[in-house]
Amino acid sequence: MSEEFVFTLLYLLICLGLIYPLDVFIGAGFTIKNMFSSFLGSEKERFIMYHIKKSMLNIFIYSSLPLIYLILLFIMGYAEEVSSLFIGTTIYWQTFAATSIALPILALFQIQKWIYDKYKTHPIAVNLSKHCNNNNTWETVATDIENEYRRFGTVCIESNPVITIVVTENWVCKVTPFTIFLAHQSDATLNVKKVTNFEMSDMGTNYAQFMNIEVKSTRMDPFTIRIKSENFVDLETRLSRTINVLPNVKFHKSVNDQFIEIFKETVEKNHRYVTDIEPDICIGCLEARSAIKLQKQCTYRSYEENRLLGHHEELGECTDCFCRPMWCLDCISKWFVSRQTIHEKHLWLSKKCSCPMCRATFCVLDVSLLSNSEE
Ligand SMILES: [Zn+2]
Ligand SMILES: [Zn+2]
Ligand SMILES: [Zn+2]
Repeated sequence: MSEEFVFTLLYLLICLGLIYPLDVFIGAGFTIKNMFSSFLGSEKERFIMYHIKKSMLNIFIYSSLPLIYLILLFIMGYAEEVSSLFIGTTIYWQTFAATSIALPILALFQIQKWIYDKYKTHPIAVNLSKHCNNNNTWETVATDIENEYRRFGTVCIESNPVITIVVTENWVCKVTPFTIFLAHQSDATLNVKKVTNFEMSDMGTNYAQFMNIEVKSTRMDPFTIRIKSENFVDLETRLSRTINVLPNVKFHKSVNDQFIEIFKETVEKNHRYVTDIEPDICIGCLEARSAIKLQKQCTYRSYEENRLLGHHEELGECTDCFCRPMWCLDCISKWFVSRQTIHEKHLWLSKKCSCPMCRATFCVLDVSLLSNSEE
């Protein structure tokens, strides 16, 4: 391998790390954001201005990468090779050499134009100006967003190393290396369009779920934000509106929610509790009607089996609960999950829990749905 080839490989790797910083680069502080922090200023103080500056910096640095490569080759003593590029061995190399010079010049020209017209034609300002009312300017919108960004409770979710989703009290923003897509919450609809699963290990024990959420607004073209399912709750709690899940999209928000689904399916198969008493409102959510009764149905043998299998239950054998039906299925399953520990998640279904009222011990087999005697 020639020295030149090794250098080229190394340089490509560095470029990749600058454009799409992986953890190693971020950890080492080797990011554009870090290296030019004094030029960029504070993101917290001037969110919009920071990203206008950062996009210009990105454009300039990305466009200079081929030229820097040639300059470095030159410095390393390959002057002849570099100059022969321009005279040209092949048309491809000639084009590369010419482009390497043209790109940063074009970039500088564009940046100078933006600065000259006070950023009015910068993509971020153009997107902001779509949200202006009456005789407001894009700067008014920018100040509004910057003020909200500084406030407590702003949610920032990293989609990937280069795209961040920022949700403030009233705005949803997707920050990319060159621009910001945004929508005012009052005017936006959010729809979960697609959910994709990725297994992180071959054992299938660790997997990540990503969801694509389309943000539609009357003032801008729709844009898609991509987040991990575990961030869904953060996003949903910060938003003033609900995120619609299209009927053909199925997803699990978290391990807990996955378990709750299995828990409910298991309860459906249990014996019913026959009663003619009109059920009260669930005391957990105060919305649904109570729908379950806890009654010991698991046998001693199954407990014994459990013990032989090595599932030592700290709560001991299930006991009878004499409480009237007070909970809906949703609430009791959430309660059950909340009493479990995450590292034992593969054992949850064989675990026990105590009745929220009388502390009687129950397992999933002891949860009965109510049924009318006529049914
Ligand atoms: Zn409930
Ligand atoms: Zn009870
Ligand atoms: Zn039981």
